Amino acid sequence: MKLIFLGPPGAGKGTQAERVIERLGVPQISTGELLRRAMKEGTETGVKARGYIESGALVPDEIVLDLVAERLAQPDCQNGYLLDGFPRTLNQAEALERVAQMDAVVNIQVPDEVIVKRLSGRRVCAACGHTTHVDLAPDGVCPKCGKPLTQRKDDDASAVANRLVVYAKQTQPLIEYYEKKGLLLSVDGCQEMNAVTEEILARLQELGR
Ligand code: ADP
Ligand code: ADP
Ligand code: ZN
Repeated sequence: MKLIFLGPPGAGKGTQAERVIERLGVPQISTGELLRRAMKEGTETGVKARGYIESGALVPDEIVLDLVAERLAQPDCQNGYLLDGFPRTLNQAEALERVAQMDAVVNIQVPDEVIVKRLSGRRVCAACGHTTHVDLAPDGVCPKCGKPLTQRKDDDASAVANRLVVYAKQTQPLIEYYEKKGLLLSVDGCQEMNAVTEEILARLQELGR
């Protein structure tokens, strides 16, 4: 099964991907994670990407496409994958289409006011990669592994404001693009986390894919 998780920053793509891959048994490919890892490791890609990410802009397509091509060539992607945060531009979507046929695109819908609340409280575990929210982990400790939680630099107010503008301009057109192809499944991302997961799994099952 080849899936895309689409939605604005903070919609819950990563949270839901983490849960859905457990049921589907395919790897989660998060371009945001791949880029953050490259930054941490100080690779050439990481050095080039940092300025874009920290200001809330998109990283240029060539960089992201190279990173994705390299990841999709790994053996664990042979039986499918869940793309989280990719594609984010029409150009990326067209490039993907040249190499793979998707089964469905899950569009997680959440209004801007909710996004701002979610992103300002988002916390990530540097040790195991788990994403949570300050309301769910007020002690600042990862509920999965017990290590300290951190805040992403691009979750500050000015980068968030910019990411919302960038989403509306560059990524939102993908909704219509995939709708026209008959691949879009829209789900209400404002529901409680488990309810969103169940809705996604039920909708995928209905497809019989
Ligand atoms: P994305 O990957 O789309 O940017 P995340 O999965 O990182 O979004 O979620 C953003 C923030 O919102 C995190 O702090 C996460 O814990 C929280 N969150 C995700 N889904 C829900 C939900 N259904 N209800 C409440 N908070 C949520
Ligand atoms: P979120 O879903 O919360 O917006 P991500 O972790 O998916 O965050 O992405 C973080 C940042 O990494 C983005 O704001 C952007 O700068 C960069 N990025 C991630 N995926 C892509 C992509 N497909 N194309 C361009 N830039 C990307
Ligand atoms: Zn952890």
